[in-house]
Amino acid sequence: MNENCLFCKIITGEVPSTPVYTDEYVIVFWDINPQAPVHLLIVPREHIISLNEVEEKHDKLMAHIMRLLPKLAHEQGLDKGFRTVINTGSGGGQEVFHLHVHLLGGF
Ligand code: 5GP
Ligand code: ZN
Repeated sequence: MNENCLFCKIITGEVPSTPVYTDEYVIVFWDINPQAPVHLLIVPREHIISLNEVEEKHDKLMAHIMRLLPKLAHEQGLDKGFRTVINTGSGGGQEVFHLHVHLLGGF
């Protein structure tokens, strides 16, 4: 938990969101500014700044997220496929410095 982090505040409920899925590892909610008909954010409960800060201890979490993505896509009816995006660092377009995966589809 980082008290200055927007996504940590969403995880605690201090900032409202529209969750579609939660478990012990992640919370998944709708992006506030969707770039596609379906645009979800998969956010680890742990405050990890970006892919640059992912370590071996996060292997189970990262595998969990990868395997969760197609399940979420299927639940959203994205049977033709989906896009995943991870922006890393300011040079990669990252704006919220708490690791997250964008799941987009329905273009
Ligand atoms: P990034 O550029 O860091 O990869 O993506 C951050 C994403 O968070 C953006 O797509 C942006 O629309 C989304 N976002 C920013 N603030 C909020 C918020 O308060 N609530 C939700 N649900 N999404 C947000
Ligand atoms: Zn955070």
